[in-house]
Amino acid sequence: MRRIAGILTFLAALVFAFSFVPQGVSAKITFITIGTGGVTGVYYPAGGAISRMINAKKDIYHIRATVESTAGSVFNVNAVMAGDLEFGIVQSDRQYQAYNGLAEWKGKPQKNLRAVFALHPEAVTLVAAADAGIKTFADLKGKRVNIGNPGSGQRQNSIDALTINGIDWKKDIVAEGLKAAEAPGMLQDGRIDAFFYTVGHPSGAIKEATAGSRKVLFVAIPNIDKLCQKFPYYAPAYVPIKFYPQALNKEDVPTFGVKATFVTRADMPDEVVYAITKEIFENLDQFKKLHPAFEVLTKQNMLEGLSAPIHPGALKYYKEAGLIK
Ligand code: GLU
Repeated sequence: MRRIAGILTFLAALVFAFSFVPQGVSAKITFITIGTGGVTGVYYPAGGAISRMINAKKDIYHIRATVESTAGSVFNVNAVMAGDLEFGIVQSDRQYQAYNGLAEWKGKPQKNLRAVFALHPEAVTLVAAADAGIKTFADLKGKRVNIGNPGSGQRQNSIDALTINGIDWKKDIVAEGLKAAEAPGMLQDGRIDAFFYTVGHPSGAIKEATAGSRKVLFVAIPNIDKLCQKFPYYAPAYVPIKFYPQALNKEDVPTFGVKATFVTRADMPDEVVYAITKEIFENLDQFKKLHPAFEVLTKQNMLEGLSAPIHPGALKYYKEAGLIK
């Protein structure tokens, strides 16, 4: 009898204890992973900045964010669409192509892709070794050039830049498909003569490429007007030389560029997308301090370069904040 009473008391205590579990503990946590790029790019720290701000408010949002280093934009679109990643950072031109079924997605429009906001501008950056005899774009002919790995955003940008300037990437150069994080080391080791990287500035990869013993320069890309006319998702841009004092150039270098954008898919819960959007927009000054490439961000320009429909969770915030009518 005493034993049964003991067990009953214990069970009662158990029920009592569980009825007092604080709300924050019992609330369901949503885990999200953000696809970025190579660790020496800007997507990786950008994803880290978004995660840090969201995770700091886990008691309010119940979201736990992590970042993944990936092959880049094209990989991120595909992984988000396949449900392997919840969010991704993607070049604005790639967002346009994916949603409209162009380039890698020819005949396969990604209609469930959703835009959340735009981030920093990215410049198509062509870095060449001075001792390879590359001074102008035309000098690339016959050289070993990294145009970017399949899965990256930059690969198509390199091909467009070469093609508009009459260089056939399959015949006129020795094209390599290395990941951006590997290219600076390969350039310094003399294994390639030049590489393209579509990236925000400053970036760790470009610092690494310019800081070695092999002297390097940025090469201007000609025919930008023609290129931007043909592909409306490109805009004139330049490589800001102030971040790379060891490069041989003395002035900013003209090129073209796109924007980094934050994307998800249509079935992502509205409250998750709303929380992330609100957190970043309401604390934009704090967010901008997390990477120097974010210096130019404004609430207005973070709504530019979005070609997929804006996710309803983000749209709810933009309407509330009066940023979109
Ligand atoms: N723009 C590059 C890509 O889409 C990534 C740049 C970065 O990682 O900052 O692949």
